[in-house]
Amino acid sequence: MPNRIQSLFNITQPSPLQRVNVPWTQFKDANNHVNCDMNYKDSEVSLWCKRDDLLHSVISGNKWRKLVKPLQQLMQQPSAHVLSFGGAYSNHLHALSYCCNKLNIKFTAVVRGAYLSKQTLNPTLQDLKSWNTNLLFVDKHTYQRRNETDYLDLLRKQLGVDVIIPEGGSQHDALAGMQDMLTELESVLNTTGSAKPFDAIILPVGSGASMAGVLEASSSSIAKRIIGIGVLKGEGYLEDLVSQYLNKTPRNTPYLPWHIEHNFHQGGYAKSSVQLDAFCQSFNEQQSSILSTQKKDTPLSVEPFKKDTPFCSNSLQSLSGSHSALQAPIYIEPVYSGKCFYAVKSLIQQGYFAPNSRILVLHTGGLQGAR
Ligand SMILES: *Cc1c(COP(=O)(O)O)cnc(C)c1O
Repeated sequence: MPNRIQSLFNITQPSPLQRVNVPWTQFKDANNHVNCDMNYKDSEVSLWCKRDDLLHSVISGNKWRKLVKPLQQLMQQPSAHVLSFGGAYSNHLHALSYCCNKLNIKFTAVVRGAYLSKQTLNPTLQDLKSWNTNLLFVDKHTYQRRNETDYLDLLRKQLGVDVIIPEGGSQHDALAGMQDMLTELESVLNTTGSAKPFDAIILPVGSGASMAGVLEASSSSIAKRIIGIGVLKGEGYLEDLVSQYLNKTPRNTPYLPWHIEHNFHQGGYAKSSVQLDAFCQSFNEQQSSILSTQKKDTPLSVEPFKKDTPFCSNSLQSLSGSHSALQAPIYIEPVYSGKCFYAVKSLIQQGYFAPNSRILVLHTGGLQGAR
């Protein structure tokens, strides 16, 4: 079953795991100055990126992971009418709309905000329209009822809805798909034989479902700890969300040590700052320049990963997944991946990680929202 759905949607799974050399010292700050902090060396921490942003050209990284199980169920009920919730830039609505269209399943998106006329539709909502999604715009007070039973019952009755998927695809069923991501990592670590677990896996946290999925599925053979980067102002709240998902399935072995960093949200969800914008721009420019130095017509020579290859090779190297993704630069946007990489940079600069640490950043996708 898993293989069938991945090939149906043309998903590149496993997603590539890539060694990234980022010259943190060379990033320009908001004043266009190169910010050179001499207290650390770029080479001290080795950085890896799990490229879930490359799983699919449309379906955003962690949204595929979170939707895979519900989609498998929907394939059994082709006449279902599905409904879900999100903002006007929602990566989740975008992914689910695309998938429902592909499965020929009726989909209604309840969108927060009063976008009354067609002229005001942003690229995300235009895509939803083109994929035959019914758009239902509700004001922010109505939207706040998105998890209330009587409101959901009303939507079921009035619209003939059969399946309701919560905002962000965040529900307990979402955790299962995150398991696949960890299984992919584990199989790479196993083929490398001598490879040690990562010192940390770092990912952005919005609803907490992805982080809970990572915790649920990871063991000490994969990583020593899991660090979430809060993308919204929610100290305590985000930890509670993660714990709520975890508490639904009791287990015998303890979870890896985990915590959420709260210093990088820049004031709230989808809020940015001059510093974060400058960082994202500088980062993306630097990545583009990697691309332009690669000769276009020469196929990239990729050494197959061998057992005796040192795990921390210095070249841009894929350990698994699609070879064509090898030269793919890493692009970030300020809502999720930008905050996450900005946090990684700041933590490295602060000397948070011991020398020779191996850090894995999960790129959860989400670039469509930045159009
Ligand atoms: C939704 C989203 C997240 C947040 O995931 P949660 O499971 O809600 O914590 C992170 N990154 C991207 C790109 C997203 O679209």
